[in-house]
Formats: sequence, structure tokens, C-alpha cells
Amino acid sequence: MPKVVLITGCSSGIGLSLAVGLASDPEKNYKVYATLKTLNKKQRLLKSVTEFHRDTLDILQMDVTDRASIMSARDRVQEGRVDILVCNAGVGLMGPLEVQDSKVMKDVMEVNLFGTLQTLQAFLPDMKSRREGHILVTGSTGGLHGLPFNEVYCASKFAIEGLCESLAVLLQHFNIRVSIIECGPVNTDFMLNLQKTEIGDCALDALDSHTLSLYERFLLHCGTVFQNAAQDTEDIVKVYLDAIRSPEPAFRYFTSGTVPPLVKLKTTQPDGLEYIRAMGELIFPQDHEELQQ
Ligand code: NAD
Repeated sequence: MPKVVLITGCSSGIGLSLAVGLASDPEKNYKVYATLKTLNKKQRLLKSVTEFHRDTLDILQMDVTDRASIMSARDRVQEGRVDILVCNAGVGLMGPLEVQDSKVMKDVMEVNLFGTLQTLQAFLPDMKSRREGHILVTGSTGGLHGLPFNEVYCASKFAIEGLCESLAVLLQHFNIRVSIIECGPVNTDFMLNLQKTEIGDCALDALDSHTLSLYERFLLHCGTVFQNAAQDTEDIVKVYLDAIRSPEPAFRYFTSGTVPPLVKLKTTQPDGLEYIRAMGELIFPQDHEELQQ
């Protein structure tokens, strides 16, 4: 019997590649429900769908910020159960914290944190009663260490870590596994889809020039990192497949294989200062030398 998989955020990026990857399993081991915030964004997904996917892939509307839409998607799963739930939908936000609009900050939390919470609330009772299931969440190294100008995004992804780790402790009593797939930079629409605060002249006037110049340097750093180190969604799908196929899935997977050194610093140097210095040196090297003097 195929495993029933439901994935959030499949209009692009990791969600889309994972949905198509699982639905293309030659043995047809998976029935995939690829869910999208709005169905008018299904064109890209449809382009990847072939006759092969007729009985392995269905597309459903599901906005993770709308409880009614989550329940309606859940109720449209023909098999009446979800074996593997992938909470992948997410949005980013970058920029100096003091100019961010509170609505935009709340929107990020609504999708990344409350969207994941609400999705879990909808599917947990059935998994618990069947004493079976695997929950996978697209995490971020930005959920493990802080990044300047990403305060709100990191806060949302740090929250996901606490949520998943807490749940995992409880759910082992229900034979339900929880896995976080920790991604570094990935080539997707993520940067294009960043939430935006319209930073008008007023806000910029209020912002000190030092912060502004550090932000410009951060953006350059970010561009270089994405150019040199971003993974393709296929690399992320492979890690997802490892986790999904494993009889004993781990709680945490790093998509680049090893624990990034900056994440290690958090556990080996618990006072936290070494990490802050190292990240500062990485992003703002000259300033770091000045700070050390
Ligand atoms: P993406 O922008 O291509 O995909 C994000 C998906 O989330 C889109 O399909 C979008 O429509 C969906 N989404 C947004 N709001 C939604 C809502 N309210 N309801 C349902 N779906 C919604 O970017 P991606 O890189 O594929 O992002 C997927 C996940 O990967 C996110 O959780 C993101 O935080 C995480 N991630 C991405 C990167 C990266 O560099 N791309 C790095 C680390 C983690």
C-alpha cells in the first residue's frame, strides 16, 4: 500500500521538487498530496507532472495560515490518513529590524511558526490514534544560529526547533517520528519571495548610516554565499528521501552532510561569544579587526 504524503508549500522550490520526486518513485511507493497556498500558482508544478503521476500525485489548495483551508485539505485526502506530513511552507524577511513593519513581521511568524503549528494540530490526532507517522519539517541553519538582518526569520526558525524537539520527545510514545531537514542556502524562489516592508524615505532617514552600510555589506556577503554554496533542490530531496526511507529516521539532518562548524561552536563554546565573533568575522571582516583592537 503506498504511503500517503502531504507536503505544504509546493508551488515552487523544495516543496515542488520533493512532491515530484516522491510521486516519481518507480515502485509507486508514495501517494503525494502537493498542497499550495493558492491554486493559481500550480502552473510550475503542472509542468513537471506527467501521465506517470496520474495516480501518484494530487494537488490541493492549503494556506497554512488559514485553519479552515488546512481542515478542508485534510478532509480531501482520499485515503483518509496521512502517513508522512511535510511542513515545508515558509517565507523569509531581511533588513534592519528597526524599519520592519509589524504586520510584515507578524506575517512571517504566521506562516513559519503558526502555520506549522496549525498544520500539526490538524494531522496529529489521527497519527496518534493510529500510532504511526513521520513528520518532517524544512528547517534552516538560520534556526540554529543567528544571522544579522534576519532577526525575524531566525526567530521563527528557532521557534520551529523548539517546537519539533518538544514534540519529538512526546511522539516517541506514539511511534511517530519527527525529523528536521536543516538547509543552508538553496537555489529556489525563496529570496524572490522574501516578505517586504516598504522602506520609505522616512524610515531610511531614521536609520543610522552605519547600520545601512553594514546591511549593504551583508547583502553582498549573502549574494556571494548563494553564488558559491547554494544547493539545488534535488540535493535537498535526496536528504528528505534518506529520512523518509530510513527505518530509524534521525531527528536532525543537515543537507550538506556535516554539521556546519558555526553550529558546532554553539555547543563547544556555550558562553556564545565565540559564535558571535566568528559570524561577525565572516560577514564583516574588516570591522572585526577594528573591534578586536
Ligand atoms: P520558495 O519560496 O520557493 O517556497 C516556499 C513555499 O512556501 C512556496 O510554495 C510558497 O507559496 C509557500 N508558502 C508561503 N506562504 C504560504 C502559506 N501561507 N500557505 C502555504 N504555503 C505557503 O522557497 P523554498 O526555499 O523552497 O522554501 C521552502 C522552505 O525552505 C521554507 O520553509 C524555507 O524557510 C526553507 N529554507 C529555504 C532556504 C533557501 O535558501 N531557499 C534555506 C533554508 C531553509
